[in-house]
Amino acid sequence: MDDLRYEDAAEAEYKLLEKVRSESFRELFDAKIKILFDLRKKSSGGKIVLAKIYKTNELIRHLTLENLDHLTMGTDLIIFIDKLFWSLVEEIDKIRVLRHELRHVDYCPEKKFSYQLIGHDVEDFESEIRLNQDDIGWRKRVAELTLLAYQQREEQEKEEKKNAKKVAKESMKKDESNLHEVFEQKK
Ligand SMILES: [Zn+2]
Repeated sequence: MDDLRYEDAAEAEYKLLEKVRSESFRELFDAKIKILFDLRKKSSGGKIVLAKIYKTNELIRHLTLENLDHLTMGTDLIIFIDKLFWSLVEEIDKIRVLRHELRHVDYCPEKKFSYQLIGHDVEDFESEIRLNQDDIGWRKRVAELTLLAYQQREEQEKEEKKNAKKVAKESMKKDESNLHEVFEQKK
């Protein structure tokens, strides 16, 4: 069986999300947001993707209903976060990422689905660039950190595979020598 790709975030992530939401995104107070860790490395345009926000559809909203009475709504938005990245950085960078993702949400109460997604011209939103002025290179810094950790992990996995092969080979040799012994005893 394939390994599972996603993992549910824990209370700590939701707490941080609530902090960010109450400080900077009051208009999204009613949005049902789920956070999922993505365990797989992803790239887009040659760059590592650290997080992504996704607008759900009717099917996912139905499948994520908490009560089947349809009085409560299902998940409106899902924030995907690279788990390795998340394990490496300080809270301030986590906040930056959550803020960036929520910045993609446009609240449109007049529409059938009140949460639409918007893009940004450059790599970030102007408002975010202003807020992160104390550390303008933060994204590059955390991306490099994450890439390095992935590299280390890949090397470690290669090494483990190599060792496993070696162990298998040795145990095969052992089997062969046992075989010799058996033959010798028979003689
Ligand atoms: Zn973005």
